Amino acid sequence: MTESKDILITGGTVLTGVATDPAQPGADVLILDGRIAAIGPDLAATGIVPAGTEVIDAAGSVVMPGFVDTHRHTWQAIVRNIASDWSLDEYMAGLHVGLSRHFRPEDTYVSNYLGALEALDSGITTLVDWSHNLRTTEHADAAVKALEDTGMRAVFAHGGGAAQWGGEMPSPVEHPRDDATRLRTEHFASNDGLVTMALALRGPQFTTREVNRADFALARDLDLRVTVHVGDGHWGKMRPIIMLQEDGLLSDTITYVHCTTLSDEELRIIAATGGSASVAPDVEAQMGHGYPATGRLLAAGVRPSFSIDVCSSNGGDMFGTMRTAIGLQRAADNKELVDAGVIIERIGLGCADVIQFATLDGANAAGLGGQTGSLEVGKKADVIVVSGNSLAMSPLNNPFGGIVYNAHPGLVTDVIVDGVVRKRDGRLVGVDVKKLRDEAAEARDYILSQMPAASVDGAWHPEVAHA
Ligand SMILES: [Zn+2]
Repeated sequence: MTESKDILITGGTVLTGVATDPAQPGADVLILDGRIAAIGPDLAATGIVPAGTEVIDAAGSVVMPGFVDTHRHTWQAIVRNIASDWSLDEYMAGLHVGLSRHFRPEDTYVSNYLGALEALDSGITTLVDWSHNLRTTEHADAAVKALEDTGMRAVFAHGGGAAQWGGEMPSPVEHPRDDATRLRTEHFASNDGLVTMALALRGPQFTTREVNRADFALARDLDLRVTVHVGDGHWGKMRPIIMLQEDGLLSDTITYVHCTTLSDEELRIIAATGGSASVAPDVEAQMGHGYPATGRLLAAGVRPSFSIDVCSSNGGDMFGTMRTAIGLQRAADNKELVDAGVIIERIGLGCADVIQFATLDGANAAGLGGQTGSLEVGKKADVIVVSGNSLAMSPLNNPFGGIVYNAHPGLVTDVIVDGVVRKRDGRLVGVDVKKLRDEAAEARDYILSQMPAASVDGAWHPEVAHA
């Protein structure tokens, strides 16, 4: 099933992904030729539904745009949970420049395929794969093929490999221009595919100023969007946004990942230059990146998007991510008021906004806001159905609250990407899950066999070298 066909999703409670839009109970969504053609009650009676249209009964369910994950190191899926008790420094030493070196292209393929399908299965229809373990061209090709084989919408963010991320810091080694150029000209010449390309750059925290300027020039030469980590932990305090500003590199085609330890002044500069942001609340709260910047970004004028980041540590779905983000932000906002002796009449950040961060704002951050991220007539049909029939969702009262606080990947019954059904009645279509699980375990075993000190059971804490 790879061709998009006409689909009518009937009788669900429709959330558009735009925070100011009210929920539409009992509405249908009509998909024609891969795009959203109409949203409203009883569309069959209007005569616009062609004969032979496939019907998905969504009565009792929530119908909404697929989620957008704006930054995930998908290649780490096979070492899931290895880093769940690690600090950022342990992660850098143990995995990022440790185990990463032992991935063969076939391991990259399996891990990327597993990680991307895990996302799709949980209702994420657009994934920015922040692919920074590309030691060879074969590794890059394997990572791209895995994304393409899932049928999901993805941005392959080319991020170099051990040569760029290991060794001397700040790195004097440029982004691999040849490999990025090869992929852009030979594979991603068009921007119209389901999988498109961006550059995942190290930025001023991890490279010399000269190398950073060369890397951003490469993005300009190849006409690619940039995604870059800034403001993470102690590295983030070197005022990376000011450095980018001094070098004239800020633009509206950049997504700034984390932003946790950036100054408010830097966040305002991001807003003024049209940049977007990606908050990864689970890992930021865990590893010591600093406090998730959701509220500070909003105050500066930047609507955040959300990301999973390290699937080697935290969960890979957007429900958990939304829950962590809203809980931490509400706690911070309320603490400030309580500490000041203010009686709280109404709390700030709402569930509908958090859903928009996870959908439309994510699409905007991925450069795809014109195509996806919301249920609007004319947009590509990236749609999910979330069952409201579990005991924990029943009765379905406030669908925004239900999605943020009560839903989970197991309730995602149907996933449509670009008008193609990729998950139906709770099962991924055309995926041999047992075979994939076996291949993932085999690849994991190979990687571990190459580094006897490592283990994935949570007992291993990598040695951290301090300069
Ligand atoms: Zn990251």
